[in-house]
Amino acid sequence: MKILVLNSGSSSLKFKLYHMPQKELLAEGAAERIGEENSLLWIRYKGKEHREEGRLADHAVALRTLEALLPRLGILGSYRELSAAGHRVVHGGEEFSQPVRIDGKVLDTIRKLIPLAPLHNPANLLGIEAMMEAAPKLPQVAVFDTAFHQSMGPEAYRYALPREWYETYGVRRYGFHGTSHEYVSRRTAQLMGRSIGELQMITLHLGNGASACAISQGRSIETSMGLTPLEGLVMGTRSGDIDPAIIFYMNRHVELDLSDIDTKLNKASGLKGLGGSNDMRRIEEGMNEGEEDAKLAFDVFIHRLVKYVGAYATLLGRLDALVFTGGIGEHSQMVRQRVCEQLGILGIEIDENLNSAVGPSERAIHASSSRSEIWIVPTDEERVIAEASYRILFEG
Ligand code: ADP
Repeated sequence: MKILVLNSGSSSLKFKLYHMPQKELLAEGAAERIGEENSLLWIRYKGKEHREEGRLADHAVALRTLEALLPRLGILGSYRELSAAGHRVVHGGEEFSQPVRIDGKVLDTIRKLIPLAPLHNPANLLGIEAMMEAAPKLPQVAVFDTAFHQSMGPEAYRYALPREWYETYGVRRYGFHGTSHEYVSRRTAQLMGRSIGELQMITLHLGNGASACAISQGRSIETSMGLTPLEGLVMGTRSGDIDPAIIFYMNRHVELDLSDIDTKLNKASGLKGLGGSNDMRRIEEGMNEGEEDAKLAFDVFIHRLVKYVGAYATLLGRLDALVFTGGIGEHSQMVRQRVCEQLGILGIEIDENLNSAVGPSERAIHASSSRSEIWIVPTDEERVIAEASYRILFEG
């Protein structure tokens, strides 16, 4: 059977088509610049790539165009051959701690959560609604970025704020990247040949967005993102942790308005704010060329990470594995080296040769004397969404 996984943004729609339960990837691609004159639809399949440009007015048009293209490329006859569609949904609030089959009530709840994720949930809904229009009878599943972290206790998810902010307005820590943290932790346990139920782990998802997660026996007990993805680590363009009084200061003293501050914290901070680029490759190049701003951006990024790992190891009481994933976690040898070097107090020892070797993408990089194992495990959120969709629809 075939399952289509969709990750819908406001002007893009990424997709992967799987043969299940084998989890074989049949095709992947994206519609980009939806709504503009020069939209792009690209698809990779059987070692080939097809690209076409032309206006895709909205998400529904993008999905219909894809449906017309699939038989021409010999990938799928039509959406009628699909058994399910799985969707990434960013915010599931406290309502969803598991993937769910989408019905009218689920859609209403995702809509109700829009104030908590004003950019993401409406974009995710566009993809769901477009797919419902394109294939009205197809079962659809929502998999939430927040769900894995619903296992956090109140000591981790509550802010020390007036109680009614939580009770009336839902102000608490939710955490994101849950699908990724869950996948890489389970995969690492498999690679270690151990049961996830006996392991204490820290997973570091370091991409454009970045978050850390402390995982005890397969359950998230703490993560670095909060009410929104702005909290926590230094990211590509997001600040991560700051003193909230900075906002009042910039608003009252500098007279920057709140929406400007919001944009600056989300889009002009992090690596970009400090080092001029949100691309870690560029920051590393800059460092090698002796640029001070790039070095500072890198140092702040590492310092924040080390602080989090140290704190999480303490919460976990024992650290069996530290796992790197996301574009930076998977590819930046320098980030892994520097983080691990500063974690000597935990008995963590990276093997420099394993770390720098061009090896398989999933691999262990710790020295044999290291107290904790260190792993690189590429994340695969779409595959988890396909698996979750299969599980809840066809395995009861
Ligand atoms: P997203 O969060 O958008 O999915 P990715 O997980 O693809 O992003 O991660 C993007 C980040 O990965 C960028 O900062 C990019 O610079 C970084 N990255 C990719 N390849 C490398 C590399 N070889 N060395 C250092 N950083 C890399």
